[in-house]
Amino acid sequence: MGEFDLIARYFTRPVRHAALGVGDDCALLAPRPGMQLAISSDMLVEGRHFFADVDPEALGHKALAVNLSDLAACGARPLAFTLALALPRADEAWLAGFSKGLLSLADAHGCELVGGDTTQGPLNICITVFGEVPAGQALLRSGARAGDDIYVSGTVGDARLALEALLGHIHLPGELLAQARQRLERPTPRVALGLALRGLASSAMDVSDGLLGDFGHILKASGVGACIRTDETIKLIAAGAYPSSATGQFDQKLLQQCTLAGGDDYELLFTAPPQHRAAVAAAAAQSQTAVTCIGQVQAEPGLRLVDAQGQPVEHRFASFDHFA
Ligand code: ADP
Ligand code: MG
Repeated sequence: MGEFDLIARYFTRPVRHAALGVGDDCALLAPRPGMQLAISSDMLVEGRHFFADVDPEALGHKALAVNLSDLAACGARPLAFTLALALPRADEAWLAGFSKGLLSLADAHGCELVGGDTTQGPLNICITVFGEVPAGQALLRSGARAGDDIYVSGTVGDARLALEALLGHIHLPGELLAQARQRLERPTPRVALGLALRGLASSAMDVSDGLLGDFGHILKASGVGACIRTDETIKLIAAGAYPSSATGQFDQKLLQQCTLAGGDDYELLFTAPPQHRAAVAAAAAQSQTAVTCIGQVQAEPGLRLVDAQGQPVEHRFASFDHFA
């Protein structure tokens, strides 16, 4: 199968919103009047972001999910995406699985594949997503203010727990491994929540490299500090609620480490002023996405962790950095 047959078979779909999709030198998008385009790229490299033997359908899902998560973090509605793909060979079984995982998630979000590039080489997947947001309404990292509540959506830490198990560092009971692995391999982009938070959240981002490290970016961009409660964050790892006979083996430190500095969570981390508490709860209900308040923004710079009694917790959680 040649390059163009491959593109035609696996990556060419009729477009409904874009003015022009796959097949010409450029795709054409027509953003609606009053809208800004939100654009983001994420690259997934074999051996770095995923194991060589990962299920291709899950990989297709994740490649788009991590990009949709960036749109969610900006409160943007997905429109379209491009796919730049380097493949070692034209393996039809792999392509069928990969494109199925990719395009099912795309369809679920009405996000159209409008173009890309295909080349032979070590497996590497780079997606660029395009979304739209009313001009001036994008959720940014820079708007957190002292007194704001800090929230995180869904669960965090389970993806890292799965990674530790797959690397052989820890043992997880089968059922828990399956559940944690689902979080690692098939993250859920919180698009509906991001849309519902427009006009409510003062700042937002998605958690990809670890909760504390990522929140540091909001603090820096906003010029503020924060206090986070570890009794609230430890509840955010779904594994923590695993039947207690099985959790007996878990070191609370490991759960805390996965929760606060795990990475690969793709949850939304955001701040909102206390007067929006009821509206944030309504946004969570409307988007069927749980949110948990984990602390408060403070004027004093720096990130402080406290326990349930408000006593300081020592920490040295580092977030993921490709070059550190
Ligand atoms: P060009 O050489 O002009 O950049 P190509 O020959 O690389 O174009 O690609 C032909 C068409 O197929 C273009 O419309 C391009 O956007 C599309 N395309 C190539 N690879 C992919 C892919 N992996 N997924 C979707 N569209 C693709
Ligand atoms: Mg061309």
